[in-house]
Amino acid sequence: MNDSCTMFWTPTRTAALEQLDAFSPSMGRHYAAMRNTDFGPDERTNTSLLSPYLRRRLITEHEAVAAALRAHGYEGSEKFVQEVFWRTYFKGWLERRPTVWTHYKSQLETAKFRITDDRLLREAETGSTGIACFDAWARELVETHYLHNHARMWFASIWIFTLKLPWELGADFFMRHLLDGDPASNTLSWRWVAGLHTRGKNYVAQPWNIAKFTNGRFTPSASELAEDPEPLTEAFDPGLAQPVRKATPFDPSQKTALLITIEDCMSETLGPSLGNMIAAATLCVTPPQVVKTIYKFNSASLADAAKRAVGLGAPAMTILDPNNPHGLADWAQDAGATQIVTSYVPIGPTRDWLDQAASSLDNAGITLAEITRNWDETVWPLASAGFFKVKKQIPRLIQDLYPS
Ligand SMILES: Cc1cc2nc3c(=O)[nH]c(=O)nc-3n(C[C@H](O)[C@H](O)[C@H](O)COP(=O)(O)OP(=O)(O)OC[C@H]3O[C@@H](n4cnc5c(N)ncnc54)[C@H](O)[C@@H]3O)c2cc1C
Repeated sequence: MNDSCTMFWTPTRTAALEQLDAFSPSMGRHYAAMRNTDFGPDERTNTSLLSPYLRRRLITEHEAVAAALRAHGYEGSEKFVQEVFWRTYFKGWLERRPTVWTHYKSQLETAKFRITDDRLLREAETGSTGIACFDAWARELVETHYLHNHARMWFASIWIFTLKLPWELGADFFMRHLLDGDPASNTLSWRWVAGLHTRGKNYVAQPWNIAKFTNGRFTPSASELAEDPEPLTEAFDPGLAQPVRKATPFDPSQKTALLITIEDCMSETLGPSLGNMIAAATLCVTPPQVVKTIYKFNSASLADAAKRAVGLGAPAMTILDPNNPHGLADWAQDAGATQIVTSYVPIGPTRDWLDQAASSLDNAGITLAEITRNWDETVWPLASAGFFKVKKQIPRLIQDLYPS
């Protein structure tokens, strides 16, 4: 265990870069052949474990893919590169269908209120359902704050189709415990397993598949798991993809304060000179009821981002109160700023917080400028339907994103 009480991760950019370096030799054939097997929490060497870092942009997707391309070329690292693009696809997809997030939040509250058998929910969350594999994953999640991708799929499938618990409660359980918990990847993956993302196509956990890809650690019997469940359906319609929200552009002539959020801990590569900022602050908004470890990891990641920014000339950092969205305008006004600049804040709790802060920023005449990274700007326009539309463009995207 390290300072942040997590098994594998230290919340710094240095640690993220070390992990990237350590795993890049394995991003080629090794990853393609081995990535689907969950060897268990004591043997996590077949996938990169970069997700908590990518989630907070302690390293960027651009850096992760660059490392893969350097080590193996595109052909050699295609599988790994595609997985990173899954992340960007989900971020872009949710960005373009914001009602999916608002609907999820309201359905979550309804599900909490409606659940009649909360004994079953308690058993699922504490790993005491009697389904050995499921129980082990529930405990692993709570203890290590991570699950292998395949285990997440099996777990979500059993939660939805065998235990028949509301998927929103499962997504919330993940968000409260996962170190890489991400509003887009998590919500949309749960919807995908349920058969709501690719409508009518659900993911069914099968005993043979679990036995094979846990390397025989778990061998559930056919009678333990729902055999041929129907996909979930819903009356809610996410509608057609909208254009990505138009953020206010950065105006270099304004008196500007820097805001760093957990959506992007790399302010040094955003663009504006950190030495020109008249004030700087960090904002740590976490989803409701997340466990302490996640909160501490977020705070420490922001402290690391702040240290780097100050080292490059940013003013001393204020830590904003996450319980007071209107404090943002007060802070900027006291500093004499007419503009706050931050990285584009995608859909999720931090965005919700900034939406609440908008009226007081308006009243104070302060603009919130958001800078979108080239990576997102290039890929998100393609995230309008299924992943395939992005996947088939990856070779061209690589050329655009890594001009030689
Ligand atoms: C039900 C469910 C919930 C999930 N919730 C999250 C979540 O909250 N946050 C999250 O980052 N991922 C989530 N995932 C996706 C995936 O499980 C994790 O990204 C992956 O397990 C992280 O481990 P790794 O870094 O070793 O991945 P690697 O296999 O090494 O992949 C490299 C990177 O690609 C991205 N990636 C890989 N697979 C996926 C995927 N299927 N979807 C989106 N991005 C992917 C991640 O950023 C990852 O770090 C979820 C998947 C499921 C089925």
